[in-house]
Amino acid sequence: MIVISWRTVLMGPYNHPAWCARGHRCNLGEHRATPAVMQVDGVGKVLVTRVLGANGRERLEVTGSAYLHTTGQAATKQVDRTLRGFAHVMASAAAQ
Ligand SMILES: [Zn+2]
Repeated sequence: MIVISWRTVLMGPYNHPAWCARGHRCNLGEHRATPAVMQVDGVGKVLVTRVLGANGRERLEVTGSAYLHTTGQAATKQVDRTLRGFAHVMASAAAQ
């Protein structure tokens, strides 16, 4: 009887998850997908990358940039609003 675990099925013959980009993105005990990029003209862009960490836990890495207002106070408000919005998005993603 051959027993194939779900981990074997999901990881494939070289222990890469099906979504892993392999090559230089996959190292140090981590598997990384090709980043997904969302560009919003005149606003900025966000990159999200699915990662299977060396600890066996998956996570989503997020990086990006957005243009700020030209005045310091307005830019500070933008940063504050963005952080609050991001905290809401992260909590929502973690809750599912
Ligand atoms: Zn990999």
